[in-house]
Amino acid sequence: MSKKMQVVCAWCGKPMGEKDGKGVEGVSHGICEECYKKHFPAMDMPESYALAVRAELRMQPTEKLQDDYETLKHDTEKATQIIAIREILWERGKLVERR
Ligand SMILES: [Zn+2]
Repeated sequence: MSKKMQVVCAWCGKPMGEKDGKGVEGVSHGICEECYKKHFPAMDMPESYALAVRAELRMQPTEKLQDDYETLKHDTEKATQIIAIREILWERGKLVERR
């Protein structure tokens, strides 16, 4: 069984899910969308945040992305993640809209 790395926001401590720890268990730090907006207002949700989100999501297995997509798809606060997940699933030929 692969070990999981818990991801938490380094600014507010909010849990941001988990990722494959590549054999290592522990905690990894990221930044959540709210803190990013708060601490980097000049960036104003630019390409760089979307790219960081995308790079992180690309490391996730397809099944995890499909589950996340189902969970998040109606959450307007998570639009950046939803768009990124849709794109990655589409690239992998796994974008399936469950009805
Ligand atoms: Zn945060």
